[in-house]
Amino acid sequence: MQNLTYNLKRTVGYIVGFILFYEPFMFFNQIASTFITDTSFSSIHVPCARIPLANIVTGEWLATSTISLIFCLLLAVTSLWFGPLFCGKLCPTGAFSELLGSLLPDKYKIDWVKLVPVLPLRYGFLIGFLFSIWLGFGIPCTYCNYYSFEIFINLFLTEYFLNTLSSLIATFFLANVFLGLFTKGGRGYCLFICPVGTYNSLFHIFGRFVPGAFAMQVRKNACIGCTKCAQNCPMRAITMHERQATIDRRLCIICGKCAHGCPKQAICYQSNLAKEKK
Ligand code: SF4
Ligand code: SF4
Repeated sequence: MQNLTYNLKRTVGYIVGFILFYEPFMFFNQIASTFITDTSFSSIHVPCARIPLANIVTGEWLATSTISLIFCLLLAVTSLWFGPLFCGKLCPTGAFSELLGSLLPDKYKIDWVKLVPVLPLRYGFLIGFLFSIWLGFGIPCTYCNYYSFEIFINLFLTEYFLNTLSSLIATFFLANVFLGLFTKGGRGYCLFICPVGTYNSLFHIFGRFVPGAFAMQVRKNACIGCTKCAQNCPMRAITMHERQATIDRRLCIICGKCAHGCPKQAICYQSNLAKEKK
C-alpha cells in the first residue's frame, strides 16, 4: 500500500510536469503570460534553462524571453532552497527513462558509477555545452532528450510528428534505451548529459551554505548499512562508508526513493537547521 501511494504521488507529479511544460498544454507559459507580456513564440524551448544559459554565454541575455528568464530564476531559487525538485518530482523525461531502467534485471544493465568518473563527466559536459556555445556552435536542441521526448509523446497524443530530425530520433534512443533501459537506475541522460539538471545541482550544492535549505539527510544512528537505498537510487548518489549510507548532493535529485525504501526510516528530507538541532 505504501508503495502504491508513493508511486501514485510520483506519477501525479510527472503528469503535472508534463501539463505545465510540454506541448500541447504548456500551462506554465499560459499562466506566466497572464502576468507578463511576452511576445516570444510558445513552445517547450521557452521554459528551458538551456536558452538563458546560452544567451548569458554569448552576451545576448537581454534577448532572452521574459518567461525563459523567470523559469531559469525559479529553477535556481527552488534548487538552492529545496534541491533539484524539478528533476526528481516534475520532469517526465527523466521519469520515463527511469521507468525503462526498472524493467530489466540488473545483470543486463550498466552501472556507470563503477566504470567511469561520473562527476567529472557530469559537470564537464555542462562546461563543454557552454563552451561550445561560446565558440559559436549554437544551442544543440536537436540533441536534447527533453525535446525528443516531447516529440515522441506528441506522436501519440496528437499524431504530430513533423520536423523530426534523425538526430532527435538518435537522441531519444540513446537517452532512453542505452542510458535508460540498459543503465542501472535508468537516469544515464540525467547523470551525464542534461545541462538543466546539472545547473539545478549546482544550486543545490550551494544550498549547503544557506541556513534553512533542504536536502536528503541520513540519520547515522538509525542506518544499519543494509545498502537498500544505494541499490535503489536512480542517480547512483548513495555510497556506503563503514556500513553507513552517504548521499552525494552533487547527484541527488530529491526523488525520495531512498527514504521510501529504507527499512529503518533513516533517511529524511529536512532543512539543515533541523539537522543542527539534533
Ligand atoms: S536503506 Fe536505510 S538502513 Fe539501509 S543503508 Fe540506506 S539509510 Fe541505511
Ligand atoms: S539519494 Fe535518494 S532522493 Fe537523492 S536521487 Fe538518490 S534515491 Fe533520490
